[in-house]
Amino acid sequence: MTYHVTHTKRKTLSIRVTRDAKVEVRAPLKCPDAYIQAFVDKKRDWIMKHVEEAKLRAQNTQVQVLDRDAFERQYRDFSQRVQGLIKQLAQDLNVKVNQVTFRDQKTRWGSCSSKGNISLNLRLCIAPVAVADYVVIHELCHMVHMNHSDAFWDLVSQHCPEYRSHKAWLKSNGSQLMAVKINGEQRRNANKNTFA
Ligand SMILES: [Zn+2]
Repeated sequence: MTYHVTHTKRKTLSIRVTRDAKVEVRAPLKCPDAYIQAFVDKKRDWIMKHVEEAKLRAQNTQVQVLDRDAFERQYRDFSQRVQGLIKQLAQDLNVKVNQVTFRDQKTRWGSCSSKGNISLNLRLCIAPVAVADYVVIHELCHMVHMNHSDAFWDLVSQHCPEYRSHKAWLKSNGSQLMAVKINGEQRRNANKNTFA
């Protein structure tokens, strides 16, 4: 791993990952290189995580091509987090979730059946966390209200007070997310994105 060291009048070491995924270390004036290296090694996992996130963000907003490994790592974290969120929400809403599946869907972020089967677009793993959580909350709330009535949106807002901005985010960035290339496969007709 390459990193850039700046020595300053400070007492402790610090590491920062920049927006363009560069690693910057700040160190006290006479801090030995070996000490800095050991510190970096110790923080390796944290650094790699943040470098990857910075790269994903950059790719997502510019090139729209995702490195498969980075995507899969992101996806693993995402699906784990979502499973936890669903468990919690199901308890709060007093509903029974039968099955959760993640799919690379073309037009939907999520759907929910009356039998309690939840399906989520795996591309949500490259959306902001709060947006992905909103979709999960949206689908879970459909297990209480199978419609988009005022009562439904009331329930959504109870669990996700900022839902309007997340909805707006999906509206303006959704098609870009759908069009992102993963694993070398180009998405066609990715203009529509709707909810169930
Ligand atoms: Zn809906």
